[in-house]
Amino acid sequence: MMAAIDLDEIQAARATIEEPVLVLSRVERRYREGERFLEVLRGADLAIHAGETVALIAPSGAGKSTLLHVAGLLERPDGGEIHLGGVATGSLSDADRTRLRRMEIGFVYQFHHLLPEFTALENVMLPQMIRGLKRKEASERARQLLSYMRLQEREAHRPSEMSGGEQQRVAIARAVANVPRLLLADEPTGNLDPKTAHYVFDALQALVKASGLAALIATHNMDIAERMDRRITLEEGKIVEM
Ligand code: ADP
Ligand code: MG
Repeated sequence: MMAAIDLDEIQAARATIEEPVLVLSRVERRYREGERFLEVLRGADLAIHAGETVALIAPSGAGKSTLLHVAGLLERPDGGEIHLGGVATGSLSDADRTRLRRMEIGFVYQFHHLLPEFTALENVMLPQMIRGLKRKEASERARQLLSYMRLQEREAHRPSEMSGGEQQRVAIARAVANVPRLLLADEPTGNLDPKTAHYVFDALQALVKASGLAALIATHNMDIAERMDRRITLEEGKIVEM
């Protein structure tokens, strides 16, 4: 006799097979160089799951920033497809790509890009208010994030009144202020001394693990890369696991 199919069991199993937050499939990106094309990404494949930190390590000029820009929907690929939270992005309009980016992705750069005339608290509030949150809700969440980054004493400071490590921690708090699913960071500790870099990375890692974010972080710091879940590099425009 055939065993009965247990639908509950199948559904439970399905729920545990989680879709990756970010999927790159055969992604291509080329730049025009006079008469010729510079092929930067030549069929890059990658999948990153929620709660996973992935280090991107490759020499200067290999295409790390290009990969982050394309994955972050800041640039369109010349070929291939990018899925973000299960959504195929290739056929979306520019306006929809921007909306999806604002909702799902946080960026951290090597230089913090904080607004100099605003305090730490206001810098973390602003993206939330742009998204439509009330001032009170935005300031509550900004306070929580800054205290999570151990910056409660710096709320009222402007960027010029903070150290490099503090500025970067504010930038990380700002990047996750709208509860994105994906964090993309381009050499976020590249401008810091080794001790500060570790401190900032620890804060970032704790935040990723606590919030279940997926994170792709370009770095030259091998100590930091070793502490992520996976390491990848770019070889001839393709992604290779290390
Ligand atoms: P990385 O971040 O690994 O240093 P990039 O992604 O910035 O590398 O650059 C990869 C290659 O693409 C480099 O040779 C760079 O000069 C070139 N490149 C990057 N952006 C552009 C652009 N907008 N136009 C033309 N060439 C570019
Ligand atoms: Mg770069």
